[in-house]
Amino acid sequence: MSALILDGKALAKSREQQLHAAVKKFQDGGGLQPVLATILVGDDPSSATYVQMKVNACARVGMGSRFISLPASTTTDQLLEKIDQLNNDTEVCGILLQHPVPEQIDERACFDAIAIEKDVDGVTTQGFGLMAMGEPAFGSATPAGIMTLLKHYDVEISGKHAVVLGRSPILGKPMAAMLLNANATVTICHSRTQNLAALVAQADIVVGAVGQPELIKADWIKDGAVVVDAGYHAGGVGDIEKTGLQERVAALTPVPGGVGPMTINALISHTLESAQRLELSTVHPNTVE
Ligand code: NAP
Repeated sequence: MSALILDGKALAKSREQQLHAAVKKFQDGGGLQPVLATILVGDDPSSATYVQMKVNACARVGMGSRFISLPASTTTDQLLEKIDQLNNDTEVCGILLQHPVPEQIDERACFDAIAIEKDVDGVTTQGFGLMAMGEPAFGSATPAGIMTLLKHYDVEISGKHAVVLGRSPILGKPMAAMLLNANATVTICHSRTQNLAALVAQADIVVGAVGQPELIKADWIKDGAVVVDAGYHAGGVGDIEKTGLQERVAALTPVPGGVGPMTINALISHTLESAQRLELSTVHPNTVE
């Protein structure tokens, strides 16, 4: 067996072409240019790179972006004030607060201050709740991108046993909820989980989101499984060890070029959707759910 490569880079590229056309059509129809506001607090180089990648992606599809850089000493109140301004800015249809923020900031309070209709990164408690209940909401961008990738490659989810390693609010938890909504049987693992290897060995679908290089070992994974690696570490290493997997699993995401490009794609796709909904709600206030 040679694993199907779940090529997020190629899929994101083709979806960007569609998004570019859709943005043009939206503006030709009288819509304002969709604008994503990105907020970076502090000067962490990785976070700065991630934000720049999102700004670049906006430009590639013809969207605008508003980059807000705040000093590492920013307080919760100052950040809340900035988010409030963006919530009330009619030119902005999506707000991204880059995670993590400096530790003196109450990140949850700031995420939750983002207006639900502009929560294109799916970070608010309300957005999570709606998504988990199967109601309309922008899901968290990384798991949303993973779901798009799995769907594109016709990976069967219904009835399968998915094991998600990691339970963070932006990745593991929403990933588990999305897979559950797609009728998978889901096991969520975390740092207190016992018998990790035995649980992973049961998985038809493995999602690695632990933030530690190759913590998940190749020999835990059964033949024929689908392997999704959300991690990225120096040297192109993910959260899942890949030794020998290519020859015996059904499908896997490369690192890099798998989950990362799909995260950005989900974000900009949500931003266009938000622009379309906000436009509708301006013209016909009762037509948006
Ligand atoms: P995080 O907030 O640090 O969460 C890590 C999770 O892994 C936690 O739930 C933690 O459990 C669990 N964990 C840690 N050590 C473990 C162990 N030994 N056994 C089992 N579980 C363990 O990380 P995150 O933000 O979710 O990110 C996870 C990974 O995805 C990282 O590699 C990150 O770089 C990557 N990521 C990629 C993208 C992308 O766009 N490609 C976006 C976001 C994140 P506890 O809850 O018990 O502490």
